[in-house]
Amino acid sequence: MTTNSQTTQSSSFKQHVVSGVKRLQPYKPGKPTDELARELGLDEASIVKLASNENPLGPSERVRTALVNELDQTSRYPDGNGFVLKQVLAQRLGVDVGQITLGNGSSDLLDFITRVFVNDGDEVVMSQHAFAVYGLVASVVGATCVTVPAKNYGHDLTAMAKAITDKTRVVFVTNPNNPTGTWNTRDELSDFLKAVPSSVMVLLDEAYFEYVDEPDYPSGTEFLNDHPNVVVTRTFSKAYGLASLRVGYGISSLEVADLLNRVRPPFNVNSYAQAAAVAAIQDTDYVARSVVMNQQGMHMLTQAFAELSLAFIPSVANFITFELPASHNASDVYQALLQHGVIVRPVASYDLPNYLRVSIGTPEENTRFIDALKACLQA
Ligand SMILES: *Cc1c(COP(=O)(O)O)cnc(C)c1O
Repeated sequence: MTTNSQTTQSSSFKQHVVSGVKRLQPYKPGKPTDELARELGLDEASIVKLASNENPLGPSERVRTALVNELDQTSRYPDGNGFVLKQVLAQRLGVDVGQITLGNGSSDLLDFITRVFVNDGDEVVMSQHAFAVYGLVASVVGATCVTVPAKNYGHDLTAMAKAITDKTRVVFVTNPNNPTGTWNTRDELSDFLKAVPSSVMVLLDEAYFEYVDEPDYPSGTEFLNDHPNVVVTRTFSKAYGLASLRVGYGISSLEVADLLNRVRPPFNVNSYAQAAAVAAIQDTDYVARSVVMNQQGMHMLTQAFAELSLAFIPSVANFITFELPASHNASDVYQALLQHGVIVRPVASYDLPNYLRVSIGTPEENTRFIDALKACLQA
């Protein structure tokens, strides 16, 4: 049987693929700028990428300096325990160093929590329109994802608490949520946490925490004392402008942090990321400027949507999701925007079929987007 040994060999290992991976679809990131530049034969600098909620200011001076200073240590392994970064974070957050778990991006923490707490056949609960990575990490370990219908595009925390069964191990709550930009109040979260059994973990994803300016918006860390089953995750990828370096963290009770750190790969956060994150935390002016620019950009975009009679989901984050009228197909408009050198994010896979998500850019980038959108809608 030498003739078809190739096929036999290549398919023989497929039977061993773990069941959660068999049905897995890889995460679809925003289209990279250089990819579109190659496709259209354009200069990369002429492309506006508003697809991944990155910080449009670019890295701060202090971060650049920290990165250059780190170059000499390139041949050395990073500090596997992230001593300095954890010290600076703990001090800033008013928590014990032992409560922090560093991640290669905060996405790493989503993987840790499912690997620690979720077995094959268990359930995780999440909201409709929530971040796609929750479904991915849960599927890998063989869990069933229970998706709870959204209320006004946001998390219906009452319904999510009711969806918890004996098999539920983790509930994912995104505050504010991506891609809808919706958020939950302190009272809503407090009531929710009281309703969740203490044996069920709650992952409170606060990737856009720094952008929110609402008096009733809570810091998840407020709940840690009363609820040792909570893990709050934050990231340096958004307001801190370090998306390429992959660094985020979890804040939890000491017991939970100890468990999460057991599955954390050694050296998961590299030296450049650690040094840049320390510099970024201290650069409060950069974050403040980012937030102001975001508020102004949000105003610009919502004005433009109103002018174009486009419905949008009010957002407290650094992106906004808008609806195309029935006369226009979102994926056609996405493609047409690409032709104008503007990359936004299709969100059909988030159960928002005729919507697009756009990140808030610099004033110039926002103008490019608005002009291109007008041209696409008139075409
Ligand atoms: C961007 C984002 C993250 C952060 O991902 P990193 O791995 O830290 O870059 C986490 N959760 C949500 C909802 C996000 O949108």
